[in-house]
Amino acid sequence: MAERLENSEEVSKNTESGACRASREGRVPCPHNDCHGSAVFFQRGAGLDVHFRAKHGAKPDATTEKAAKQKLRKLCFEEMKQRLQDIEAQEQEGQQYEVACPALKTTVTATRPEMAAKKVGIILYAGGFLHTYASKAN
Ligand SMILES: [Zn+2]
Repeated sequence: MAERLENSEEVSKNTESGACRASREGRVPCPHNDCHGSAVFFQRGAGLDVHFRAKHGAKPDATTEKAAKQKLRKLCFEEMKQRLQDIEAQEQEGQQYEVACPALKTTVTATRPEMAAKKVGIILYAGGFLHTYASKAN
């Protein structure tokens, strides 16, 4: 009973935290096929290393962390796209702008084209498709 409670708590905690938050906190998902679809994140380096040895009985190699980062970026991108859809569902004002680029094809509602571009920029940035130009200005 206690274990079940603990597990469901763990699941909701992981769902709430999300991939983008994990990214900010330096955590990555396990890229192993057996962990596909799992929303559990591990501290980069040692955390993933321990999980990999315990769960998959193997030492992570050089490509593991790279694969983990790629998976994280993809998950965060999906999360941001979902968030955009949620925001869009509540958007009342403005007009619709069709956005089409290699990484993302969607319709966004905004009062001005600049605002539409800004929204899409946030999503693309989360997906790792943009570089941080802003960091130079700050
Ligand atoms: Zn794993």
